[in-house]
Amino acid sequence: MSIAIHSKPEEARQREQIVAFGRSLFERGLTAGSSGNLSVRLDDGWLLTPTNACLGRLDPARLAKLDWDGRLIGGEPPSKEAFLHRAVYQERSGAGAIVHLHSTYSAAVSCMCGLNHADCIPPLTPYFVMKIGRLPLLPYHRPGDPALAGAIGALARKHSSVLLANHGPVVSGATLEAAVYAAEELEETAKLFLLLRDVPTRPLDARQIDELKSAFGLDI
Ligand code: ZN
Repeated sequence: MSIAIHSKPEEARQREQIVAFGRSLFERGLTAGSSGNLSVRLDDGWLLTPTNACLGRLDPARLAKLDWDGRLIGGEPPSKEAFLHRAVYQERSGAGAIVHLHSTYSAAVSCMCGLNHADCIPPLTPYFVMKIGRLPLLPYHRPGDPALAGAIGALARKHSSVLLANHGPVVSGATLEAAVYAAEELEETAKLFLLLRDVPTRPLDARQIDELKSAFGLDI
C-alpha cells in the first residue's frame, strides 16, 4: 500500500493531531480495541483513521487520505465507517473534523428504551448544551448498512452530534480539538444521565437554555 506524501505543513500538523488525540482517547478508555475513528477535512480531501486500527497506536504517515467521492488517494484502507464521516461533511460545511467512538456511557444510553429520539440526553449542564446542544438518536442500522449514510446526513443538517442506537456517538466540530472535547462532554453527560436515572433531577429549563443561546450565540 502506498504511503501518503504530506509535504504541506498543515496536512502534516493534522496528521500529528489525529495521532495525538487518538492516543489520548485510547489511553483514557474512551475507545477500546480497534473501535472508533477520527477524521479531518483538508483542502484537497480528508484524512481518516485506517480500518482495524487501534486509536492508541496510529502512524501519521499511514492514515487513509480520501477524495470527496470516497476514493482512497493515499495511506492504508480507511475505516469501514468512512461513509458516515463523508455524509456528515457533505451536510455540514463548517465541520472540520469528526470523532466517532464506542465510548461506554454514550453507548449504554444508545441501548436504552424510552429515549426521546429528537433529544435523547436532557440538558443537565450548560456545558452539554454549549458543546452538543440537542442530541438526536438515529435508529439501529447494521454495521455498513448504506441506508445509514442518508439517515445520518439528514440529522447532520441540524445537529453537530448524533447518537447511533446500539452503537455510539458521531460528533463533529470546527477542529479536531473541538470535536474531541465535545465527544468527551457527551460521554461525561451520558455518565451523569445514567448516575441520575433513579434520582429526581432538575435539568436546565427553557429560559436557562434561551439565556445560553443568546449569551453564546448557540444555534440549537
Ligand atoms: Zn462505530
